[in-house]
Amino acid sequence: MLEAPPLPGQDIHAGVMPEIVWGHGDDLCDCTFQQVGDWTNPYIGRTLRVRLCCIWARLFSEYPQFVQEIPAYYDQNTDRWETDPMDWNVEDSDMPVHIWHRQIAVLTGLSLPEVRKHFEGEQPPKAVADGTGVRLISDG
Ligand SMILES: [Zn+2]
Repeated sequence: MLEAPPLPGQDIHAGVMPEIVWGHGDDLCDCTFQQVGDWTNPYIGRTLRVRLCCIWARLFSEYPQFVQEIPAYYDQNTDRWETDPMDWNVEDSDMPVHIWHRQIAVLTGLSLPEVRKHFEGEQPPKAVADGTGVRLISDG
């Protein structure tokens, strides 16, 4: 099995702070659903961050019979599968770049590296006007 090249921030050693601290939405891997586990404790002065999404991808490739990758989104409000990605409709936030890139990849069939290159420097959809969309952050 070929080893994947190290990700930025991966080449850390004990006592050395990483140049890049991994976080959700950092777009440093091509996983569809980025998940970074994060455990930190002030009393032992240590933090553990794990790219669970990348580890899961390796695990999934070993056990494909236990994985469903569904090319649709399940809308619990309508009890239906929706195959077309929804337009950004959030009032209190612009679309995060990592989500925008993945949406473009789904819509065009391009790979994430191709999308990143082609759309470099372009801005994702902006927040929609108040009263025309949904809010992610409650006012209360
Ligand atoms: Zn990943």
